[in-house]
Amino acid sequence: MSGRSQGRRAWEVRASALARNTHNPIRSIVENLQVEPNPEKQLIALSVGDPTTFGNLNPPEQVIQAVRESIEWHTSRGYGSMVGHPEARQAVAEYSAHQGPVTADDVVLSSGCSHAIELAITVLANSGQNVLVPRPGFLIYKTVAEGLGIEIKYYKLLPNQQWKVDLEDLENQIDDDTAAIVVINPSNPCGSVYEKNHLNEILDIAARNCVPIIADEIYEHLVFSGHEFTSIAALSQDVPVITCGGLTKRFLVPGWRMGWLIVHDRHNILGKEIRKGLCNLAGKILGPNTLIQRALPTILKTTPQSFFDEVVLFIENQAKLAYEELRRAPGLRPIMPQGAMYMMIEIKMAQFPEFKTELQFVERLVSEQSVFCLPGECFCFPNYMRIVLTVPEDIMREACQRIVAFCQEHIVTKDKLKEIDTNVVLPNASEVICNDALPRVS
Ligand SMILES: *Cc1c(COP(=O)(O)O)cnc(C)c1O
Repeated sequence: MSGRSQGRRAWEVRASALARNTHNPIRSIVENLQVEPNPEKQLIALSVGDPTTFGNLNPPEQVIQAVRESIEWHTSRGYGSMVGHPEARQAVAEYSAHQGPVTADDVVLSSGCSHAIELAITVLANSGQNVLVPRPGFLIYKTVAEGLGIEIKYYKLLPNQQWKVDLEDLENQIDDDTAAIVVINPSNPCGSVYEKNHLNEILDIAARNCVPIIADEIYEHLVFSGHEFTSIAALSQDVPVITCGGLTKRFLVPGWRMGWLIVHDRHNILGKEIRKGLCNLAGKILGPNTLIQRALPTILKTTPQSFFDEVVLFIENQAKLAYEELRRAPGLRPIMPQGAMYMMIEIKMAQFPEFKTELQFVERLVSEQSVFCLPGECFCFPNYMRIVLTVPEDIMREACQRIVAFCQEHIVTKDKLKEIDTNVVLPNASEVICNDALPRVS
């Protein structure tokens, strides 16, 4: 027999299992929605977590100028080191000093924070292991992990306690195969900001069970007045923490795809192998965009505090506006956020019996009022919806008024309840007939 097999007789080219099993849940849920807006009303998308959508929020001139200058540099055109230019990593280390002692060696630059998340998960978890993520929570973790056979398990956040972690549930979810606990703070979609003592409670559980933490802090410092941001790494005594961050949200430049991760491993638990592993994995894309890397030191060092303060103040004011407006919406319960750029709103579904799920509620809100909110399903949290707070004030006000009108129209009133009750009698009656048709047991 010759060493060569026969080869194929016909074309049969299929997408790989990885490709087929990789999903972005937000994309797929949104694509399946029937979202034809009302042609008489301008569509207002409160769904897109991109602060640049409406053009009202822009990075400061220093940041734009830094990239303008970078394009002239010869070194902004070549490949960098896989883990990033040393000067850029040094700048990230200095910028991240609030997380604890950080050197350039602890920093790996990435193509956006999502890539940092992918690096963190894939360096820690094998197929068959699991990673714990908050519910509700941003689901990029699922997108990254599931195709690789890494299971995503959820721990509960408590909507009535400012979305704090249900600590008992978190600890119960941990098993021998748990490779990491993800903590998103400040949170997307909840807008919660955890206090030090709560972060310490989470760290205690991680320490007791010897599980490292992946801290998604892409919204670091985006906290409203009266709240304080603390990086969980700054509090960790012995739990290794991989912090993921980037320019995306705080500097309002999601399209620049500049993120990073920082390894905090003060007791050398992760050791050299994890750092080497991160270098290996970073090699898959030959390092991130060098144009932005070259500009990074200037961006991180020269952006004035006043810019950050103004952005946070704007978002906080939008949060207050939306909260005050939506509190008047019958059947809704907005939950005031403490930071980030979103608000979660509970939909009391029992008061909207027309709609089986919040997906239907959201669909009809689009077709009647042309306001698009993201259904809770996108965060594995039905009966809620998320709105973004970065939209201009007049648009936000208009959107809220339309949501209120929609709720007033669809909320069940006593009269409507009667109507529905009579409707309900019919299926109930037929049910009874069915039951009667069943053979009686006794
Ligand atoms: C937006 C977001 C990211 C992704 O950021 P990129 O830098 O655009 O990749 C990661 N985590 C959370 C919680 C986010 O909201």
